[in-house]
Amino acid sequence: MTAEIISGKDIAQQIINDELQPRVELLNKKGVQPKLVVIFVGDNPASQSYIRQKEKFATQSGVFSEVRRFPDTMTEAELLAEIDDINNDDSIHGVIVQLPLPDGIDVNRVINAISPTKDVDGFTDSNNENLDIHEAFLAPCTPKGIITLLDKTRVTIKDQKVVVMGRSRIVGRPVAEMLKFRGANVTILHSKSTNTEKSSALKKADILIVAVGKQELVHGEELSPGVVIIDVGIHRKEDGKLCGDVHFDSCSSIASKITPVPGGVGPMTVVTLISNTIKAAEEKNKV
Ligand code: NAP
Repeated sequence: MTAEIISGKDIAQQIINDELQPRVELLNKKGVQPKLVVIFVGDNPASQSYIRQKEKFATQSGVFSEVRRFPDTMTEAELLAEIDDINNDDSIHGVIVQLPLPDGIDVNRVINAISPTKDVDGFTDSNNENLDIHEAFLAPCTPKGIITLLDKTRVTIKDQKVVVMGRSRIVGRPVAEMLKFRGANVTILHSKSTNTEKSSALKKADILIVAVGKQELVHGEELSPGVVIIDVGIHRKEDGKLCGDVHFDSCSSIASKITPVPGGVGPMTVVTLISNTIKAAEEKNKV
C-alpha cells in the first residue's frame, strides 16, 4: 500500500481562501479590522521562522498582525505589564506569546495573564483545561487543527480506534479529549507505557496521532495496513532536512493516509490560530 499524502499546506490554503477571507470581509464591512499581536522575547531562530508563517497566513486572510520584539533581558514583570496593556487595548483581538521564553520567566504565569477572550493559542487554563474542551471559546490550535485535518480529508472519527502517543498539555491531552467527544475509542500512550501496551495498541490503531518529540520513533512494521497517521513532531536532521516523530518511508508504505513533515500539521496549527483571531473579533463585535 502506498499512502495518500494529506497536505495540511493545501488544506490550510483552501481554508484561508474559502472560509477566513470571507469572514474577515464581513468584519471589515462592519468597520472591524481583526488584529493579532505576537510577543517575541529573545531571538530563537526556530521561533523567527514560526512567526514568519503566522504573519504570512494572517496577511493572506486579511488579519493585521504586529510582532512586538523584546530583548531576552526582558523581565517577567515587564512582560506581564505588556500583556496587561494588550488586554486593555480594544483594537487588539488576539495575542500570543511565542514560546520558548528565556529562562527565569514563569511560562504558566505569563500565559494565564492573557485575557481568555484574546488567548488565540488556546493555552490559558480556562481555554485549555476546560473539561468541555470541544466547546472552549478558543480551542488550542494544534489539536483543533488535527481534528479539522481529519474532517477535511473525510476520515471517520466516530467508533474508530484512535491511538494518541503523547499526553502533553498543548497537544496530546487536548486532542485525545476532542476525539473522545467525537465518539472515538481513544488509547493514550506515554513515556511510562510498557512496550507490550505500546505494541498492542499500535497494531490495533485505525488512526494514529504521534506527538512525542522523538525523531522517527514509530516505524511501519509496528502498525497495521490502512492506518491513518497524523505526525505532529518536527525535527531537523543532521543533513538539515526536516522530519517528524514517524519514520515516513516505512509508515507511508503501510498507511492509507499520512501527513508529511513539513506541510502536514504545522500549517493546520497556524491556520487555526488565524481562525481563532477572527473568531475573537467576531465574538467581540457580535450584535
Ligand atoms: P512534550 O511536551 O515534550 O510531550 C511529549 C509527550 O510524549 C509526553 O506526554 C511524553 O510522556 C510522551 N512520550 C515521550 N516519549 C515517549 C515514548 N517513547 N512513547 C510514548 N510517549 C512518549 O511535547 P509536545 O509539546 O506535545 O510536542 C511533541 C512534538 O510535536 C515536538 O516535536 C514538537 O516540536 C511538535 N509540535 C508540533 C506542532 C505543530 O504545529 N506541528 C505543535 C506543537 C508541537 P510523559 O507525559 O510520560 O512524559
